[in-house]
Amino acid sequence: MQLLDGKVVSAAIKVQLKAETANRLAEGKKIPHLVVIIVGNNGASETYVASKVKNCEEVGFGSTLIRLPEDVSEETLLSKLAELYHDDTVDGTLVQLPLPAHISEEKVILAINPAKDVDGFHPVSVGRMVQGLPTFIPATPYGIMLMLEHYGVQTSGKHAVVIGRSNIVGRPMSILLSSQHAYGNCTVTVCHSKTRDLASFTREADIIVAALGRPGFLTADMVKEGAVVIDVGITRVPDVSKKSGFAIRGDVDFEQVAAKSSYITPVPGGVGLMTIGALLKNTMAACKMRAGELS
Ligand code: NAD
Repeated sequence: MQLLDGKVVSAAIKVQLKAETANRLAEGKKIPHLVVIIVGNNGASETYVASKVKNCEEVGFGSTLIRLPEDVSEETLLSKLAELYHDDTVDGTLVQLPLPAHISEEKVILAINPAKDVDGFHPVSVGRMVQGLPTFIPATPYGIMLMLEHYGVQTSGKHAVVIGRSNIVGRPMSILLSSQHAYGNCTVTVCHSKTRDLASFTREADIIVAALGRPGFLTADMVKEGAVVIDVGITRVPDVSKKSGFAIRGDVDFEQVAAKSSYITPVPGGVGLMTIGALLKNTMAACKMRAGELS
């Protein structure tokens, strides 16, 4: 079994981006600038946002964190996004999800400038991804693809089963794995909450991506010998032994499944770290595109 180590791969991405940023600075070129908006103070969102800002600093990107109160009006958030849409100093804009119930996620995503859509959630980005055109790919699926590439995991002709069909993970993941490129070309089955006898699909899978948010859902009896297992799940479960009072669990029963896998991602230390690496790469790409250096 080979561990697909998010620490190793994301560190390599950050070393490369840090060097590229330093070169840009030396050449007098624009440095990437990411703006992150957080509404309210959801604990998990706070952690993700802090990590995004810290990682920007580590590679030398500019970053701005905009905090809005839980009861901010939709109108105020949309007008902030309209401002950022036209702000030439800003390369990437993201709004941390989920949003409070009184704000429409759809309206918020549509208000982001597609040229700054580093989360890859805007319909323009999604449409381009579906058509195989250059675009911003949502950070988690993009991070998984970068990980497969780093470890040279063969995907062509393989049967991949993606569990989950959300717009941010499962759906784009299934599209990328079936697309025609070096780490795609899979035959993909998408499983979800209405799938009957889900284990009959996972047992046939060469590659399994578990993205449903049910801790320990994928057990060893659901996996064939030699499968590649990617665990996207991040769920906080109570743990009195931790200072925070919780531990992070993935969707895979790691100990048991690892013994049968050819490759597997740990949680934490797997896909979560890759998501940040991919976001940084999207932000650099946005900066270069806006500077006319990329088409
Ligand atoms: P979501 O709730 O939007 O979607 C969950 C999907 O799982 C749905 O499509 C649903 O049909 C499916 N599902 C739910 N229960 C199921 C069941 N019993 N059997 C089969 N399918 C089932 O969640 P999401 O935003 O896609 O996130 C999924 C998980 O990934 C969560 O734990 C989330 O925290 C995590 N996540 C991690 C990262 C990362 O960086 N590692 C990024 C995003 C999300």
